[in-house]
Amino acid sequence: MPEDEDVVTHNWTVEPDHGYDLPDELVIWDETLRDGEQTPGVYYTTEEKVELAKLLDEIGCDILNCGIPAVSEGELTSIKAISDEGLSQASIMGAARTIRSDIDAVLKAGCDECVPFIACSDVHLKYKLQRSKQECIEMAVDAVEHAVDHGLKTTFVTEDTVRADPEFVAELYNAAIEAGAERVLFSDTVGVMTPTATSWFFETMRELDLPEGPIGGQQGAPEWGFHNHNDFGLGTANAIAAFEAGVPNLNTAVNGIGERAGNTAFEEVVMTLEQLYDYDTGINTELLKDLSERVEETTGVPVDQMKPVVGHNAFTHESGIHTHGVLSNTITYEPMHPEDVGHERRFVFGKHTGTAAIEDRLDRAGVDAEEGQLSEIAERIKTTIEKRGKDEARAFVDEFREHTDEQQGVSKDEFWAIVEDVTGQQPK
Ligand code: MN
Repeated sequence: MPEDEDVVTHNWTVEPDHGYDLPDELVIWDETLRDGEQTPGVYYTTEEKVELAKLLDEIGCDILNCGIPAVSEGELTSIKAISDEGLSQASIMGAARTIRSDIDAVLKAGCDECVPFIACSDVHLKYKLQRSKQECIEMAVDAVEHAVDHGLKTTFVTEDTVRADPEFVAELYNAAIEAGAERVLFSDTVGVMTPTATSWFFETMRELDLPEGPIGGQQGAPEWGFHNHNDFGLGTANAIAAFEAGVPNLNTAVNGIGERAGNTAFEEVVMTLEQLYDYDTGINTELLKDLSERVEETTGVPVDQMKPVVGHNAFTHESGIHTHGVLSNTITYEPMHPEDVGHERRFVFGKHTGTAAIEDRLDRAGVDAEEGQLSEIAERIKTTIEKRGKDEARAFVDEFREHTDEQQGVSKDEFWAIVEDVTGQQPK
């Protein structure tokens, strides 16, 4: 915000007392290596998983959900490699279905923490698990006890929590807590909540007397967390609503990668809290852009140009009015500083370019130009752009779409070749 005393820039997020119940501490539970790897078409090599784990640790994440060791021998090897790395701050977590052998795989992978998960909404219990509510409770309790008995710090998680009957959620979670869960996580698995509904949900859990702690709650009671998705573009807003409602543990993924429309984006949550709530997240924000680029490179999933915080356009200006403002004081059109997130400001010379940007560019290159020359340069830039035509841009988009289809999973030909090899049959 500008330092001049006569310039008042309001921040209505914190200026009036909105009565937030912000936790003293933000606990970032990162999902880049688990839900992030479930992004269609994405997989990491062991080396990549280890490299990303080190970067996530360095930037200040508290917990890394590294994957589900029971998935495959390769997955177990990758997670074990992260455990063996001995990260400086982040706790290493392995996920497990509520099945004892899955938890044994977490132990084999040398994880500090285990997260047994089971679905709990009616729709998941009926159509996916074909289990009754009672069976769901029994499986949860058995899994949590098994993990706790083997010395694993245990978080109990359900999928699709927010679409389940709240009374059943409270009953199930109470049973898991009694079985020894030290943390509990609630999931908006398909991203259907809004900020208001999210606040209501946590208020309801409290009204149902679910134990809560230790941050801001009862000593010895489990810390609460929230795992959520971005299907309606509300991922960050809902995570922030949970935090405002006193939930300290937020699940995020770098660049918002994850199933379907992805998880809540790490960089968005961090910068929203830092900039709008004036909250110290403990995250080394200057490393955000570099981390985003490494995740982009290892996943092969390009970051949207307009992605908040880390997108190519996040600090890019073209129009004459905006450029002029930014050159005079960046706060006019930039709500945060690019250097704070390791990004950089760019000026694009195009159809909307004004003379201020050109003059600035020439100044920095030691080139003098008169007023009339600046206008002529601006005019020539516009004509150049208008003459360029749209074919190239269109071709790029087509190629990008085709590439995305091709690089996600095996191709149709590869799929049917494998099927033929195994079954001796071709599709009819
Ligand atoms: Mn998820």
